[in-house]
Amino acid sequence: MSAHDWPPQLDAAQEQALLDLASDYALAHGLVLRPVASSPSSPLSLTTGIHAPYSLYPSQLPSHLFAQALALQPTYNELYARVTADDAFLERVVGGAVSKVDEFQGRLYELWKTVKAEGIKQPLALGLFRSDYLVHAPQGTAPSEHTIKQVEFNTISSSFGALSTRVGDLHRYLLASGAYPPHPSLTTSALPTNSALAGLAGGLAAAHKAYGVDDAVVLMVIQDNERNAFDQRPLEYELVEKHGIRLLRVPFSELRTTLSLSSSSHALLYHVPHGASPLEVSLVYYRTAYAPTDYYTAAEWDTRLVIERSRAIKCPSVAMQLAGAKKVQQVLASPAELAHFVPRGDTRAALAESFTGLFPLDDSREGLDALERARTDPSGFVLKPQREGGGNNIYRGDIPPFLAQLEDEDEERQRRRAGEGEGEGARERAPKGREGYILMDLIEPPRGVEQVLVKAGEAHGARAEVVSELGVYGVVLVREDVDGSRGGEADVLVNETVGHLLRTKASSSDEGGVAVGFSVIDSPLLV
Ligand code: ADP
Ligand code: MG
Ligand code: MG
Repeated sequence: MSAHDWPPQLDAAQEQALLDLASDYALAHGLVLRPVASSPSSPLSLTTGIHAPYSLYPSQLPSHLFAQALALQPTYNELYARVTADDAFLERVVGGAVSKVDEFQGRLYELWKTVKAEGIKQPLALGLFRSDYLVHAPQGTAPSEHTIKQVEFNTISSSFGALSTRVGDLHRYLLASGAYPPHPSLTTSALPTNSALAGLAGGLAAAHKAYGVDDAVVLMVIQDNERNAFDQRPLEYELVEKHGIRLLRVPFSELRTTLSLSSSSHALLYHVPHGASPLEVSLVYYRTAYAPTDYYTAAEWDTRLVIERSRAIKCPSVAMQLAGAKKVQQVLASPAELAHFVPRGDTRAALAESFTGLFPLDDSREGLDALERARTDPSGFVLKPQREGGGNNIYRGDIPPFLAQLEDEDEERQRRRAGEGEGEGARERAPKGREGYILMDLIEPPRGVEQVLVKAGEAHGARAEVVSELGVYGVVLVREDVDGSRGGEADVLVNETVGHLLRTKASSSDEGGVAVGFSVIDSPLLV
């Protein structure tokens, strides 16, 4: 079947009827966001919602590629659990040039070193991961030759577990209610169930139980003015209703004055404003703290340190956050590095099939070779900093001038250092700005795919040409060998694949974030 006969064509009145049904479903089932504030300085409305951006139809995805992405997840979960626990690897890969040229990574790294030197009080860490993929369909290849390639692996604040579950339900409802026109590929069994919400909540519950204090609470740390509240609240409701566990959802900035450590046990205590006695925190779940701008003042770094020092379980620990650096993804693409973590050849081969070209930009032979190609023929590349949250990458023709600018900054730094009287040797060893970036082959998604993207109740650019990115959620609970009694081996106590996310954007946009307004939440129609 060609991609061109999907989604079905409806006349304007039929499509409007479908939109009306979808809007009501979205509002009735919490497929919503808080509306944008009227001005940057005015507060968000806490009493109104607007539907989250969604696709009017599910998007076709080859079922064998979907199955492949799900099947890879336990291997990826274990890989990143082992990286988290491998101090020497993190010291070499993140503690090298990356932590020196990237101030944010440097601060996270120093925080980790500080806590490690004091002695890690909690060997368990929870990962609610999401591995993201695009279908790779180079021009001129047959559909049978298309593959999936990993875009990135997220170890912190993987969002949309709840909303992706809702969009799958929305599409299933529109089919069951007879609202979609008949189409041969559109059957109930082609719409896979998605248990991301229940599965992620199950991960939080497993960590809470492992902590072992029944009446302790889970602390979800969020950004100020969070619009995506209704992707977060359902996790709280699941925990309370299905697991009998309390979750408190608190902005990072409010924790400046409400957290303390018990000096004897290193328990993390949350002092409820105007509350009687403090509550012990079993698990700290971050839905913030991944971007420099999340740390509003120095106080947020102090808060992070208090949390890391405590015996609360972290989702993620700072080590697990460092493991999610794009630099780590690039280093793991090297066969020798991967072999250290994944000894089995067949498992390793399955992982490697999902890698696209990833290159360092350091002074190694490989790095200098990649640099030369990025400068002279950048059309097939994306340049990535060590950042999360979308909107940070540099694409194609923008790469050479960007690299030139980094070089100018290096020279400026050198001049300043020389002015401050540092020796020749120190200048020689100074890492270059480009070493904080990785270079990646652009994945080439299928062309000519259409979808109706619904934003704020309107079908924007009806029949837009689109690209879909598949995410697979994984849960791990890992015990680090903090006292060296198991020879540095991590113990992976929980390893599950819990659901998926499909995000769809207009092909004209390079980036894919829903929160940053580029894409909509979608669900797969397996073909
Ligand atoms: P972030 O952590 O900020 O989400 P990503 O690595 O996911 O960073 O990049 C953001 C977006 O850029 C992706 O959602 C995707 O749309 C696009 N992108 C990233 N890497 C590639 C690639 N190798 N090929 C094509 N598009 C890419
Ligand atoms: Mg990311
Ligand atoms: Mg991403």
